[in-house]
Amino acid sequence: MLVIIFICGLMIGSFLNVVIYRLPKEESIIFSRSYCTSCQTELGVVDLIPVISFLFARGKCRYCGGKISYQYPLVELLTGILFLILFQQYHFSIEFGVYAFLSLLLIVSSFIDFKHQIIPNRITYFGFISGIILSLLFNHITIISALLGAVIPAGFLFLISVITKGGLGMGDVKFVAMVGSYLGAGYTLIGIFIGSIVGSVIGLLLIISGIKSRKSRIPFGPLLALGNLLMLLKGAAIIDFYFKLWN
Ligand SMILES: [Zn+2]
Repeated sequence: MLVIIFICGLMIGSFLNVVIYRLPKEESIIFSRSYCTSCQTELGVVDLIPVISFLFARGKCRYCGGKISYQYPLVELLTGILFLILFQQYHFSIEFGVYAFLSLLLIVSSFIDFKHQIIPNRITYFGFISGIILSLLFNHITIISALLGAVIPAGFLFLISVITKGGLGMGDVKFVAMVGSYLGAGYTLIGIFIGSIVGSVIGLLLIISGIKSRKSRIPFGPLLALGNLLMLLKGAAIIDFYFKLWN
């Protein structure tokens, strides 16, 4: 069973790569065949097997020899592994479906933000509305918690954005509203906090090592996604650990 779940994750990850590539370009996601981004050759089934095609072709296009980004196998593996962890935690349940869907939203917005420094409204609006609808359909979260989860953390980031005069983008604010409609206000706020700490550490390391200057911007979306993903997977354990630190 675990193998099937993992393979499903890999295949969905492969679809996410298409979304990550095409969404910022406003290209149709579903109604066109996959093609090489260097030579535009339409790809066959053999070229589209997750991870394996990449390994066999040694990261190059079979037709033109153009380099294929490591993003492709990375997104596929990441999705597969997340599906495995979620399945071990929730088995076949509403929670598994809902949280697997949220992790897809997190992966897509992180990689787009990392590449283009933008989180498209099409993802955040769609994610927020789907979160609210799912809260009405299922009982992983109440509709009140979903709405508060969307408003409180987003309001908090909006305030920071006003205070820092645009140090934070509106994309980040909408992203947090989306996550909050799935996880609720408490978890999302802690997720933001974890993401900020990780971001500060990475930022410091990059400045010390001279890779980035003090002024360069680290995309906040992937950090927010990481923090909230940790809360999604290990929220109860993280809160427990925090209280033990103080006792
Ligand atoms: Zn090619």
